[in-house]
Formats: sequence, structure tokens, C-alpha cells
Amino acid sequence: MDGQLFASTGRRISDARELAEAVQALAQTPRSGRFIAHDGFLYRIVLQPLPAAGMLGYALVGFAVDGALVEELTQLISLDVSFLANDQGLLISSLDAADSVALNRLLSSEVDHLLLWSRPHYISRNLDLPSLAAEPVTITLTASLPKIYAEFDRVLQLTLLWTVVTLIIGLLAALMLSRTLIIPLQQLVWAAKKFAVGDYRSYFNTSSSTSAEVRDLQQAFADMGRQIQAREKQVSFQARHDILTELYNRSTMLEAIAGQIHQQRPFLLIASNIREFKSINDNLGPQIGDRCLRVIAQRLLQKSSNNGSLHARLGGDEFISLIPLLKPDDAEQTAQDLMALMRQPVVVQELSLKLRFCMGLCIFPEDGSDAKTLVRRTIIALENARKQGVALRTYQAGEDEAHLERLAIVDSLNKAMHADDGQLLMYYQPKLNLKTGRIDKVESLIRWHRPDHGWMSPEVFIGLAEQAGLIVELTQWVVRKVLGQLQAWDRQKVHMNAAINISAQDLLYPDFVPFLKKAVRAHHISPSRVTLELTERDLMRDEQQGLLVLERLQNLGFVLSVDDYGIGQSSLGKLKKLPVTELKIDKSFILKLDSSPTDQMIVQSTITLGHNLNLSVVAEGVENEQSLELLRKMGVDHIQGYYLCRPIAPESFTDWLAEHRDMDKQA
Ligand code: C2E
Ligand code: CA
Ligand code: CA
Repeated sequence: MDGQLFASTGRRISDARELAEAVQALAQTPRSGRFIAHDGFLYRIVLQPLPAAGMLGYALVGFAVDGALVEELTQLISLDVSFLANDQGLLISSLDAADSVALNRLLSSEVDHLLLWSRPHYISRNLDLPSLAAEPVTITLTASLPKIYAEFDRVLQLTLLWTVVTLIIGLLAALMLSRTLIIPLQQLVWAAKKFAVGDYRSYFNTSSSTSAEVRDLQQAFADMGRQIQAREKQVSFQARHDILTELYNRSTMLEAIAGQIHQQRPFLLIASNIREFKSINDNLGPQIGDRCLRVIAQRLLQKSSNNGSLHARLGGDEFISLIPLLKPDDAEQTAQDLMALMRQPVVVQELSLKLRFCMGLCIFPEDGSDAKTLVRRTIIALENARKQGVALRTYQAGEDEAHLERLAIVDSLNKAMHADDGQLLMYYQPKLNLKTGRIDKVESLIRWHRPDHGWMSPEVFIGLAEQAGLIVELTQWVVRKVLGQLQAWDRQKVHMNAAINISAQDLLYPDFVPFLKKAVRAHHISPSRVTLELTERDLMRDEQQGLLVLERLQNLGFVLSVDDYGIGQSSLGKLKKLPVTELKIDKSFILKLDSSPTDQMIVQSTITLGHNLNLSVVAEGVENEQSLELLRKMGVDHIQGYYLCRPIAPESFTDWLAEHRDMDKQA
């Protein structure tokens, strides 16, 4: 305790002062050891108090850290260890280094590697060991890396190898996928794009490497393309052709004509029409009618392959043909040839039908310079042929203008009717009842005063209205006016019956009877006061249908009269079957009755026959007294004519009537 060295096993300690510092440090923290370097050796020292009776002193025990310990430590922690003292350098090491310089060199040495970069051989860490402040001791723990590197390199190589292998497999898979899927899919996309612009060829190369599914898909695509193409062809064919006959339709024909005009090659345009086609349809049925149209179309198509002609169906039983003309003089003969071809009998279901045709022709360039005009003029020629009952007719200059004029008339008539602005008027011509000597009836006659054109004859515009299908509306207009007039006269105590002229088309109009029924009821006029005049020709036009309507009208109480009797070809026998009660002898037999013994004979026999059939007989066109007296003697029931009175406006009618009655009384 007094600091004296009592005993020592160490050879090199002779003076306690050498150890004073260690003893001092350890005394403060007994039981904890310290490392010290002494004479180039390393020790771990501990201070052990030596108790006796009281404190005797300390025993300072030092354990030498020698080779064996270092070896054991190295084994234990799998690291190399080196102990260094601050001033004495390397004390001991498991590494092969003699001094600290050698150790440093060793620790900073590097190893090369196959990846061409060098790495440190060792990795070290210095730790301070508990030692004396004046003489610190450190331990360097060193791990040798090459073994770890080797492990790492192996893993790295393996990883690289796998990466490369995976990459190759991936590439191969991508290649395969692209051959079996991506390329075919791209082809499909491409094909779809082509389809969109109307190209339906199939561009697929169905190599064996493509999968079955893809091949199916390609097949489906190719099929779809073919089907769309077929349908498209069909649709565009139908848009350009007449479906029944497969000839061109009107618009395609117009294009074709325009093309020919463009080439400035002369040609003949022939519009043809089957006469009485309606009766074939009605009597033999529409199938046979269609069959006839197809047979004729077939002949035309054969002709077109021979001489470059083009043919279209304009609708119904109307065809139009364009035939190139080599010489202008050939026109007539060419048309005759076509007629002969079309006229050949059509054999259907063992029936040999002889069809008759009407034809109209136009020649380019003589008869027009554009397709529409040429077609219109050809059809005008056809219509005129039909009206005149001739088989073949060439367009005559000016007919088109007349046609257009007719259209203009129909148009302004339609407007005048709807505007009801006083252009259209009803005039009335009185009829004298010879049995009673009284004026009991008028015939209503339409008048049209066209601004800038003056009065237009009803014979002209009624005919046009019939052709244009305007007559039904016009008749309704007339009926309303006349019934309104009767009502107005009723109010003035002028009790009149009225005759109204109607057309064949009126009879065929399904709403005609209901319309008349409603009209008379609305105007409070008994149907028996209304005579409906129909010409003999109109009556015979659609016998079956017409007869039914006439019967219904008669049942309602209307009086039915045969107008213009004697100029049509009807037999009295036929007339007998019709529910008519009045016969109006045509004025052509009456106008010169007084001077024509033939007319007198005809009129007399007509009156007798009419009376025998229980018909009341009217004579119109009575222009002089002699004729009137003759008719009176012949026993006619009513007379009408300029001798009595011209057709007059309703305002003048009541005055005329009053005057006539006065004259009558005086007589
Ligand atoms: P229609 O039915 O035969 O009419 C008789 C025509 O003979 C009338 O001609 C009349 O003015 C004329 N007339 C009468 N008495 C004499 C005479 O003594 N001598 C001569 N020369 N002629 C006489 P309008 O008014 O020019 O009518 C012509 C035709 O127009 C009518 O012939 C009729 O078919 C038609 N029409 C007239 N008004 C109508 C109508 O409202 N509806 C229909 N559908 N047709 C009408
Ligand atoms: Ca008449
Ligand atoms: Ca008449």
C-alpha cells in the first residue's frame, strides 16, 4: 500500500515506479483489466487486492498476449488480429508482418479479379483496447476478402449466366410470339384498314408457324372480306340497276347517256312501253306480268352485247334504250328492229303472249344536247305515240316546249285551286224540262280566267288535270262550290237541281263516295238534286270497279247520267247493266239537227231506245228554235243549249231566270 515493490515474477520489473501509473489507474476501477505494452510484449493486467488483517497491498497480475493466444483468438472470431501500441508499433499479429510498416503494406495490398477491377485484399477495423492513458493499445481486426470475393464472384457469375440465359429465352419467346401472333395480328390490322377503304383482297401469308387460332381468325377475316365485297357489289348493283329486270335504272342510264354525249358519238334513244300491260297484270296476275318484263329485259341485254346498246327500265312497263347510230338514216330501221325483237311472243306457262309496244324516239345530237333533255323528249315522243295510238313516233321540235307549257298550266291550276282567289269560277247553264216547261236544273261548268292568259278552255285544262292526277281535288272543289251555290239559291227561294261533271279517276278514288255523302249532308242538299255526269268513255274504262261505285252512288240517291252519248263505242246492251237514269245525247248530233236528216234519225232512235230502257233523255247543244221543236216532237225530256242560254255566272242566273219566266208567261 505504500508503493513498494514487494515481489515480482517478471524479470524486467525492478522498480515499482514503472508500474505506478498502472496501479493507480487500476486501483480506481478494480477488477477491470488493462492492456499494456512492456518491453515489446503485450500484457493484459489486473489488480488484485491482497486482503489480510486490513489491506496488505495489491497483486498486479499480467497475462502475456502471446502467439498461442493470438492464434486461438483468430480461430475464435475468424478474423486476423494485430495489437499495436502507440509508441512501440506492432506488438503481435496473426498476420505475417514483422512490424507496423509491413502490416500497413499488407493491409493496403489489393487483389485483381477477372472483372478487371482491383479490390482490397483485407478489410480492417481498429478498436481501442482498455489501456493506460499514456500508452494506448489498439487491436486491428482484419478480415481477408478473397474468399468472400470468390463467393460473391460465383454468385455474380451465376446471376450473369441466368440473366443471359433468360434474355436469350425471352428473345426466342418474343421471336416466336411475333411470328405466331404479332405479325399475323399486324396483318389483320392492316387488312381491316384496307377493308375500310374498300380493298377486300386477303393479304395473309398463312405460314405453318402461325397458330391454329390465328389461322382461324385470318380465315374469318378473309371470309368477311369476301362477303362484304359480295354484298357491296350487290348493293352497288342494286343502286345502279332495276331489281326486277337487272337492266340499268334511270339515274344510271342518265350517266351512260351523258358519257355517250361526251364522246360526241351519234345515238338513238328509244323509249318503249307495253300497251295494255295493265290488263296482263290484272287478268293473268302480276307474276306473269313480271315474267314478261324479265323476258323482254333479257332480249334487250342480249342485244346490248351485240351492238353496244344500253337499256334501262324506267319503271312499270316502260323501257329506254340507247343504240349507237352509225348513219343518221339508220334511225327508223334500228327502231323497227328493236320493235321486232321486243314483239316476239313471250312464252309463259305454256301461254304465248303477243305483246304490243309503243315507241318514242330521239336522236343525238339533233334532238337535244344533254341527257335529261333527251330522255324527257324521248318520253314525250312515247306519250304522243300512245295518245295517237301509233306504234312508233319520233320527237318533233317544239313538243318539249308544249310539254313544259302543259306542266306550267297544271302548276298554276293547282295554285289557283288552293288559293281560291277568283281565277276559278263555276258557271251554270240552265236546262229546260220539256215536260213541265220549267227550268228545274243547271249544268255546272268550270271556268278559269288565268291572269295574263285570259280564259282557258275547260276541255284543255280538265284534260291536263286528269293527266296530272289533279282532277280528284279539282272535282272536290267543284262539288263544294256547286253545293254551296244550290244552298245560296235555296235561300233566295230559287229551287234548282244541278249536274256536275266527273271523271273516271274520281270513280276510282276510294274516298269519293264518302266525300260526296259528307258534302251533301254538310250543305243540306238531297242527293236526288245532284246529277253526276260521266262520259260514255269514262264509264266503260274500269267496268268492274266503276260499276260498284256507281251502284253505291245510286243507292245514296244521286242521279247518274251518261254524258256525250253516241260518240263512244259502247253498246246499249252494256249501258243497260249500268245503274244510270239519264242519257245525254252528244251535242255533235244536235248542233245541226234541223238541217241533218241523218242526225234526226240517230237522235230519234236514241230517244226511243233510251225511253225503252227507262232512261230520261237530255239533248245538249240546242242552238236554234227549229231544233228545239224537233226535239220536243221526238219526246226528249230536257234540252240545254245556247238557244236557251249560254253558261252564265251565278249572279246573272237569277235575273235570267226571272226574265225567262216572264217571257214564258207572256208566251
Ligand atoms: P260537257 O260536259 O259536254 O259540257 C257541255 C259543253 O257544251 C260545255 O262546254 C258547254 O258550254 C257547251 N255547250 C252548251 N250548249 C252549247 C251549244 O248550244 N252549242 C255549243 N257549241 N256548245 C254548247 P264547256 O263549258 O267548254 O266545257 C267543255 C267540257 O269541259 C265539258 O263538256 C266537260 O267535259 C268539261 N268540263 C266543264 N266543266 C267541268 C267540270 O266542272 N268538271 C269536269 N270534270 N269537266 C268539266
Ligand atoms: Ca256535261
Ligand atoms: Ca256533253
